[in-house]
Amino acid sequence: MATFKELGLADELVEALEQLGYESPTPIQEQAIPELLQGKDVIGQAQTGTGKTAAFGLPLLQYVDPSMEEVQALVLTPTRELCIQVTQALRAYGERKGVDVVAVFGGAPIRDQQTRLRSGGQVVVGTVGRVMDLMSRHSLMLDDARFVVLDEADEMLDLGFFEDVEKILARCPGGRQTALFSATMPPPIKKLAESGMYDPVTIKVKAATLTIDTVEQFFVEASDRDKPDALAEVLKAERPEQAIIFVRTKIGADRLSRRLNDKGVRVKALHGDMSQGSRDGVMIAFKGGRDRLLVATDIAARGLDISGVSHVINYDLPNSPEVYVHRIGRTGRVGRSGRAITLITPKQQRDLEAIRKHANTDIEPWSATTNGDRPQVKVPPVESEPPRDEELQPRRPRHTKPRRAPDQGARAKLIVGAGLGAGLEPKDVIEAIVANTELDGEDVQNVRMLERFSFVEVPRDRADDVVAKVNGKRVRDVPITLEVAGR
Ligand code: AMP
Repeated sequence: MATFKELGLADELVEALEQLGYESPTPIQEQAIPELLQGKDVIGQAQTGTGKTAAFGLPLLQYVDPSMEEVQALVLTPTRELCIQVTQALRAYGERKGVDVVAVFGGAPIRDQQTRLRSGGQVVVGTVGRVMDLMSRHSLMLDDARFVVLDEADEMLDLGFFEDVEKILARCPGGRQTALFSATMPPPIKKLAESGMYDPVTIKVKAATLTIDTVEQFFVEASDRDKPDALAEVLKAERPEQAIIFVRTKIGADRLSRRLNDKGVRVKALHGDMSQGSRDGVMIAFKGGRDRLLVATDIAARGLDISGVSHVINYDLPNSPEVYVHRIGRTGRVGRSGRAITLITPKQQRDLEAIRKHANTDIEPWSATTNGDRPQVKVPPVESEPPRDEELQPRRPRHTKPRRAPDQGARAKLIVGAGLGAGLEPKDVIEAIVANTELDGEDVQNVRMLERFSFVEVPRDRADDVVAKVNGKRVRDVPITLEVAGR
């Protein structure tokens, strides 16, 4: 197996990967990276979990010249969740090279994104609708976007964005390089590949080799009435580092999370009836490791890469074997092993058999002792994701300035595009703002540091000014990007 360096990647990218703990390329990376580095168009048939983001992201970042200001690369995504995820990955990979990655997606104020684009953005990752909107307002120019990626193209097709995708491609240079990633290849996508790509190389990888094989799978039989207790027993015995508990309906997600919270088991719900803002909040808290248990519907959790997830629990049996494979693909990510536990009623044994056949896999009966020799799982370190702001006070006064009384003005939360991983401390974030604006230390509050980004609060009426003045500045040689968090 080749190393990342042997695939032709530059040292600064290889070093970033080493820091992230990537030891060797995944199959899609091994095949796609050399082709993309040579400037070829690539069609990748691969799902989330195969390492596809790095497969297109690394050659894209190698292509980008950080000394040029123009938008040089564009990644289109079907959903806002995927947009955020891809942006975070590209920022992590491109940090050493100093590439500025901007995310643009609907549901957040367009003005902030326009400000952000005005002050930089060599790579833009965006949802189709918001990219169209920004193009029509002349805030996003794609005349120099010579590296274009369509991520999860079949999903864009399903969501009805395809005409817009074609319009966006028409605004990019004709001589661009295009990469298209899609789990399936329905006829409209094939057509687009024929008309919009130049002699593409097709690379296929099976998600199954990376998902199911690394997941230990079990089932628990319980009547509908006994399911909550069975779930509680599973959680107690498994002690998951992080788990997603899948339910079939939004109402079911609400009901189960209420029941568990009533029992003293702290869980968060994620489903399509929640506002975008609360969905983002739940996702960020879960990804950062602050919340351990997530009750989610399939749609809400679709495409989410949550690599810390140790367990997937199917509280409701999935509707189809494909959904089962998709769900458990969220654990047992590259190089890690995970556990999947499915609750079934006695009548559902036949459905389980269908899943076994489809996935060509063993699903063993679970008992509390199947986990008997499992070592106590490690709890994510507090430093990498401290508790809520309120809990932070006053035990960790060094992390933040004292809170102001509530009547002293509304505050806006900003996302700082660097965190503990870049060696920053809370005082660095405060310093970056104080040094570049008229604000003093008292105005800058509630700094929360995560691995790849951080949060900080400033007076709301100064937020845009802070973003404009601090964005792009460096502190301790780390470039600081700032954006107002989704409202
Ligand atoms: P993706 O399919 O792009 O959503 O990636 C799935 C997960 O695998 C993400 O958490 C990546 O950070 C991780 N990953 C990607 N490539 C590698 C690699 N070569 N080694 C280890 N982890 C990886």
